[in-house]
Amino acid sequence: MRGLAKTSPEAGSMELIDVDEPTPAADEVLVEVDYAGLCGSDAGIYQFKSAFERMEFPTIIGHEYTGRVVEVGGDVTRFDVGDQVVERPIRGCGECYQCEIGMENICQDTELTGIDHDGAYAQYVVAPEASLQPVPSHVSPRHAALVEPTAICTRAVIENSRVGPGDRVLVAGPGPMGLLSAQIADAQGGEVVVAGVGQDTNYRLPLAADLGFPTINIEEDDLATYREDRTDGIGYDVVFDTTGHPSGLPMAAREVRKGGQIVLVGQTGETSMEYTPLVRAEVELQCTYGAMYQDFERALRLIGSGDVDHETFLDDRFSLLDADEAFEAFLAGETCKPVFDVSVLR
Ligand SMILES: [Zn+2]
Ligand SMILES: [Zn+2]
Repeated sequence: MRGLAKTSPEAGSMELIDVDEPTPAADEVLVEVDYAGLCGSDAGIYQFKSAFERMEFPTIIGHEYTGRVVEVGGDVTRFDVGDQVVERPIRGCGECYQCEIGMENICQDTELTGIDHDGAYAQYVVAPEASLQPVPSHVSPRHAALVEPTAICTRAVIENSRVGPGDRVLVAGPGPMGLLSAQIADAQGGEVVVAGVGQDTNYRLPLAADLGFPTINIEEDDLATYREDRTDGIGYDVVFDTTGHPSGLPMAAREVRKGGQIVLVGQTGETSMEYTPLVRAEVELQCTYGAMYQDFERALRLIGSGDVDHETFLDDRFSLLDADEAFEAFLAGETCKPVFDVSVLR
């Protein structure tokens, strides 16, 4: 079978390679992949920024996907051939303290699909039965490919933030995680604004507007004045930083109200800032990482109820046969959420 693999630590260096079809172990399922999303971390692997040093080459990437079960291992009891599934791509070791207390998303020895073992930009992928969840029939496969990032934002907003009815919410970053977090915060009753930078003005901020959110371009609009007007001079109750950029947290610190909450969704790297104002304002700093079973279940329900709209920002212009184009467009902010039709590899 063919799969798109990272083949060396150089930037770019993604190639379609031929590998043997994987065989499911007794507790595993073989999935024929239908659709797969391009995630910010896939773009990180493409550029090969730090944090992916541990990858071996070649590794087929891709961890946001849906497909149909085509073969089950001998011990599998919960899935049958033909079932549509999604995978929770973070696998806990099952033995460490965090796994024992039900937080395998922050397992001490976690293994990630598409980084530590072959992922879903391929005709087939294998996954343990325990990592899979069924997709209800009212969620289309194109949208099911985005359950994983939706689940991460579901966790960020519903499990890890305090957003409630009437709260003023700022979402920094109009990328896929920002647009999903904004929609879920809106479903929780928040009054949501989405902020972006100059690069976002042509493509991503207009999508936020299409989804019904007021938008700010922080390079053109005066954030302080906007905040004063919108929050009666108080500041935002909750700020989500989905920028994945070092400037995100200092900006969130300026925008959040005293006694408010900052939720860090993206992986922003390194920044230096003054923390005393946060301490004196009793601001809560909350991190959120990955997603678990209940987050996936909620994500599927929010997609089913229409609270989460993928169609507005899902971008199916790109092909896995020419994936560089998708990665370059993603990094340039010229697309929001590329979703590949993986059947081209069959
Ligand atoms: Zn991802
Ligand atoms: Zn563990």
